[in-house]
Amino acid sequence: MSKGKCIILCAPSGSGKTTLVRHLLDQRDLNLTFSISATTRKTRKDEQNGKDYHFFNIVEFMEKIDNEHFLEYEEVYSGVFYGTLKDSVEALLEDHNVIFDIDVEGGIKLKRIYKEDALAVFVKPPSIQELSNRLYSRNKDSKESIDIRLAKAKIELLKEKDFDEIIINDNLKSAEELVYNLVREFLYN
Ligand code: 5GP
Repeated sequence: MSKGKCIILCAPSGSGKTTLVRHLLDQRDLNLTFSISATTRKTRKDEQNGKDYHFFNIVEFMEKIDNEHFLEYEEVYSGVFYGTLKDSVEALLEDHNVIFDIDVEGGIKLKRIYKEDALAVFVKPPSIQELSNRLYSRNKDSKESIDIRLAKAKIELLKEKDFDEIIINDNLKSAEELVYNLVREFLYN
């Protein structure tokens, strides 16, 4: 079995999961490295290919599915695919712990694969209303895209029981401290 362990952070879009992932990556003692996913979504203006995501067109992505290159993949939004590349994760696990920022279904699949070598954390927004406020205020997505994200969030919130730990991201500082302690405990105790 691989040497490193997996930390899987899942949450409805806008719950602050990415901020928590960045916080954990900054903690050198955790020896975490980020799993860069593949996606067919358009690159946002502040993103770089190979750093934030591996951006593929739909044909390239389908080829990777056919050739079984993914540990898991999901059509996260209609017509938009995201997936975790098997080879890159296995290479990272050789000498790092790996952190995943992926959707709820994908997180449940990875937990089933890595079992006790993975800690699956569900990050919850304080409420759907607060989630809506956050999605609008970060000003990254269109109203249509936000409505889709909110509809998906309501379904995702029903799946929290499939996770090892649940964190309510109400106050960022407390959530950062809590997630750090959970991860440290999992990795070293
Ligand atoms: P965004 O488009 O905002 O970067 O991501 C949309 C959603 O896709 C987020 O919930 C993100 O965590 C999820 N996601 C990113 N990478 C993957 C992946 O490799 N697999 C799955 N299943 N979901 C992913």
